[in-house]
Amino acid sequence: MSRWQIGDVKITRVVELEMAGGTKFILPDATPDAVADIAWLKPHFVDDKGELIMSIHALILEVGGRKIIVDTCLGNDKERLMPAWNMRDGPFLRDLAEAGYPREAIDTVLCTHLHVDHVGWNTMKVDGKWVPTFPNARYLVAETEFAYWDEQGDNDFGPVLQDSVKPIAEAGLYDFVDLEHQVCDEIRLQPTTGHTPGHISVHISSKGEEALITGDFLHHPCQMARPDWGSSADYDRDAARATRRRVFDQYADKPVLIIGTHFASPTAGRLKRDGDAYRLDV
Ligand SMILES: [Zn+2]
Repeated sequence: MSRWQIGDVKITRVVELEMAGGTKFILPDATPDAVADIAWLKPHFVDDKGELIMSIHALILEVGGRKIIVDTCLGNDKERLMPAWNMRDGPFLRDLAEAGYPREAIDTVLCTHLHVDHVGWNTMKVDGKWVPTFPNARYLVAETEFAYWDEQGDNDFGPVLQDSVKPIAEAGLYDFVDLEHQVCDEIRLQPTTGHTPGHISVHISSKGEEALITGDFLHHPCQMARPDWGSSADYDRDAARATRRRVFDQYADKPVLIIGTHFASPTAGRLKRDGDAYRLDV
C-alpha cells in the first residue's frame, strides 16, 4: 500500500496484481531491446531481463468525508481469456478494508473507462449472481464511454459488460457524467480520449497542490520517453498519441504529482522534459 497527500486529499493505492512480463500484447513496441535505451526505467519499471513491470491497483481518494475509489481492477470469480485474470480468488476486498475502506464505506466509484481491468470489482458474485460490490456508492462513468460500450457489446477479454457493467445499470447506481465533470471541490475529470472514446483522467487540486491520476492514456512510464508508442488496446491510435503529447506538454516541469494507473511501485512522480520527450522523476 502507498499513500500520498495532496492538500486535504488523502490518496491510497491498494494493489490487486503487480507483475513483470506478459505485457507484449499491451505495448508491442516496448521490447527488451527497445527499453534498454531508456536507462531511467530501471529498477522500478523494467526488470533485469528488460521486461516491463506493471501494476493493477485501485486509488482511493478521501476528502471532506468523501471516499472515492478510482478504477476497480479485475475482480474475483470472473471468466476471462487471460490466465492471470481468469477466475481470480484474490484478497483485494480484505486489503481495501485493512487500508481503512470497507466496501460499504465507499460513496463513489469512478471508472476512468470501461475496460476489463478497470471495472472488475464493480460487482462481486453472491449466490451465483453479480451484485454491486459498493452498495452505498454512486458509480460515475462518462456518458460517451457507456454509450460506446453499450452499442459495441463485449470484446475478446470475456463477458465484461455482462458481469461488471450491466448489473450496475440494473441496480440503478450509475450517474452518467460529462468528460469535465466536477466530482467535488478538489476533484474533477479531465478528458483524455483516444484509448477509449470516453476515457478520462482524474485531476486533484487542494491548497495549492496538484495531482493527476492518468487512467490508461498511457500504460507505462516508457511512453513518456517514447510518446509515439501506442497500446494495442487504443481505440483510436492517432487520437491516443495526440492526447499523450498534449497532456505531457501540459504537465511537464510542473509541480504536479503524476500517479499512474498501471505504474509499478513507487507509482507516482513528476513529469520532466528530457530532450524532445519526457521522463518520470520518482
Ligand atoms: Zn488498464
